[in-house]
Amino acid sequence: MAPPESGRPDGAAALVTGGSRGIGAAVARELAAAGWPVAVNYRGDGAGAARTVVDIESAGGRAVALGADVSRAAEAARLLAQAEDELGPVLCLVNNAGVRDDALALSLTDEQWDAVLATNLTAAFRLTRMALRGMVRARFGRVVSIASIVGPRANAGQANYAAAKAGVIAMSKTIAVEVARRGVTVNTLAPGLIATDMTRGLPADALGTVPAQRPGRPEEVAACVRFLASDAAAYVTGSTLFVDGGLAA
Ligand code: NDP
Repeated sequence: MAPPESGRPDGAAALVTGGSRGIGAAVARELAAAGWPVAVNYRGDGAGAARTVVDIESAGGRAVALGADVSRAAEAARLLAQAEDELGPVLCLVNNAGVRDDALALSLTDEQWDAVLATNLTAAFRLTRMALRGMVRARFGRVVSIASIVGPRANAGQANYAAAKAGVIAMSKTIAVEVARRGVTVNTLAPGLIATDMTRGLPADALGTVPAQRPGRPEEVAACVRFLASDAAAYVTGSTLFVDGGLAA
């Protein structure tokens, strides 16, 4: 039997981790504009997540804010269950929640290593594993994880972050081939320098290395997530899309 070509089932919902601000908030708005009901996860910034929900609802979309620290297994499981209870089967998962905690490797502590890996890599794996069950059953699914150009490329002071992001890319490629014949795609985005809280305070000369000579906007990353979540991207899987103004070219 030929595998399904595409086709988002009626009632499917999206879950965006870390949707209270920055790239995640823009992704939640963009997916809602594409017709997905969206669960907007946050860890501490409930007010930010509520703003994202208001933005979506005022544009005619449907969304709910759900607090959970995705680095904790039980909270991540509860998050997915709540999203499905409130909105329907999660057939689009965007692993966006991320943290950085930089230090040169000589002084990087075990705690810094573990915390960055836990949120940026392990949480993405656990949520993907949990969400895949329903996606495989539905024979439709979209997993998009926000990696980084750091990982594929070096960045002094970010051994923990680079390992996590390179891990997300490697993990996604492997899962992609495991589920490709089930109509589920698994991809990563590798943003460069995007203007968010995470990059506030970077040295002014950081931009000098960007061929586009400007930082990216969260909306420019979100537009690419929207594409990867769409029916049009049904044949794109195991890929990494660089959204970086040419930085990694
Ligand atoms: P921000 O720091 O602006 O936002 C981070 C988001 O992640 C917030 O919504 C935060 O929630 C959430 N978050 C952090 N830890 C957890 C957790 N344990 N559980 C649930 N949510 C959590 O980051 P950006 O928008 O810049 O980054 C988004 C993603 O893009 C990250 O994965 C980052 O690594 C990646 N990226 C960013 C780049 C950039 O230049 N900005 C470049 C390349 C990759 P809360 O607000 O509630 O704390």
